[in-house]
Amino acid sequence: MYRIAIIGAGPAGYFTAQAFQKAQSDDLAFAIDMIERLPTPWGLVRSGVAPDHPKIKTVSKVFEKIAKEPNFRLFANVELGKDVSLKDLRDQYDVVVLATGASKGRKLGIPGEELANVLTSAEFVPWYNSHPDYVKTQVELSCDTAVVIGAGNVAMDIARILAIEPTALDPTDVANHALVKLKQSNIRTVIICGRRGPEHAAFTATELRDLPKLENTDVFIDSKQIEDAIKRISELDEIEKDLKNNIEAMRLIGEQQKKEAARRLEIKFLSAPVEIKGDGKVAEIIFKVNKVEGGKVVATKDTFSIKTGLVVTAIGYDSIEYPGVKIKSGRVSNIAGHVEHNVYVTGWAKRGPVGVIGTNKSDSSDVVELIIKNLTEPKISEGITGLLKSGHEVIDQIAWEKINASEVISGQITGKPRVKVVDWKQLISLGKN
Ligand code: NAP
Repeated sequence: MYRIAIIGAGPAGYFTAQAFQKAQSDDLAFAIDMIERLPTPWGLVRSGVAPDHPKIKTVSKVFEKIAKEPNFRLFANVELGKDVSLKDLRDQYDVVVLATGASKGRKLGIPGEELANVLTSAEFVPWYNSHPDYVKTQVELSCDTAVVIGAGNVAMDIARILAIEPTALDPTDVANHALVKLKQSNIRTVIICGRRGPEHAAFTATELRDLPKLENTDVFIDSKQIEDAIKRISELDEIEKDLKNNIEAMRLIGEQQKKEAARRLEIKFLSAPVEIKGDGKVAEIIFKVNKVEGGKVVATKDTFSIKTGLVVTAIGYDSIEYPGVKIKSGRVSNIAGHVEHNVYVTGWAKRGPVGVIGTNKSDSSDVVELIIKNLTEPKISEGITGLLKSGHEVIDQIAWEKINASEVISGQITGKPRVKVVDWKQLISLGKN
């Protein structure tokens, strides 16, 4: 039997465990230990997916099925590099798979980014999703206009959360501290700014098609920008289906009859942020106008500015460093998932912050296939037992199930899918009871 340590209990970690479970045969057996820094598993399904997208979260049922298999153990509240070292794990396990994601928000690198109320998606999203480390994130929603930088699905999630009528979040698992602030928010205009054209946007059509369904928010896209993009792509030899669907969804948004709602969400393209201004706190953001010329995005001499009291950047993520783990271009340095010796990597830590939750399934399957090819004789070792200090409060699967049940019960009382506990110590004590 081979001992496998998977670090990180997010989608990539669970799909890796599943791939090992599926690969088992009479001659090949795996004992899987999943190690997670937080006292709760599910990674981005818990702290990333937008609260108004509950369907996406149903994948957690798959995770729980994986966790119920007899060869699976959860060790949450165990931090790599603090409670256990990579070196010790490498010695004790036949294989260590890093599924540690990418949790550091990329920065624009422009003047003014350090001003108060300029946040990255890596701070803002976990704040509204009850991540225990981000409860105290300073978020001020007293201004009337917010700007979200980036033309991807994370930017869209953030803009939607800021732009929708907050009572729409009542029946969701949004963090209570965030809901209170959103209900007091003065923000009535949210502007998403993408630096390239509509044809280059990273949004997906499903998310775009949801925008016109917002009941109390009008969504604006400059129809001229969409028409220009349609002209440009019509000159291409081949138009990919996803691009076609995206542009069509944007065209419909542009043409949609507006409701004269008090809240507006606007998507602006070809707008590259160059400076954020303010006296201690953000007050204005300056953009350079870009244009598409000969298929390339180039800057024009034109600029414009938006007066705003909140800027959230959603321009991607980098992986964070752990002792013994090298980061190159924001990812764990690897070749097709192999890091070195018996260490492998999967998910966003392997390929960068791209792909939806399901992308991790095929990615992890490929890595597990490679791992199995490289297996040698199984080690005789104790695994994690003996590595952790005595008295270390591990949240195992049973403890997690207690936390999970308690959160779901609190939700039932208030008409929500769950009420997430945000306090680390309280989570641990719920697991012990
Ligand atoms: P993303 O899809 O890569 O989008 C990042 C955006 O940031 C791009 O528009 C990019 O523009 C822009 N950007 C990067 N650097 C910039 C800069 N310096 N200045 C201005 N703009 C800049 O990343 P994401 O939104 O973080 O999403 C990550 C992954 O999660 C994606 O695969 C996404 O689909 C997925 N996701 C899915 C869902 C869902 O299915 N509902 C929800 C959330 C996230 P360029 O293209 O010009 O670089």
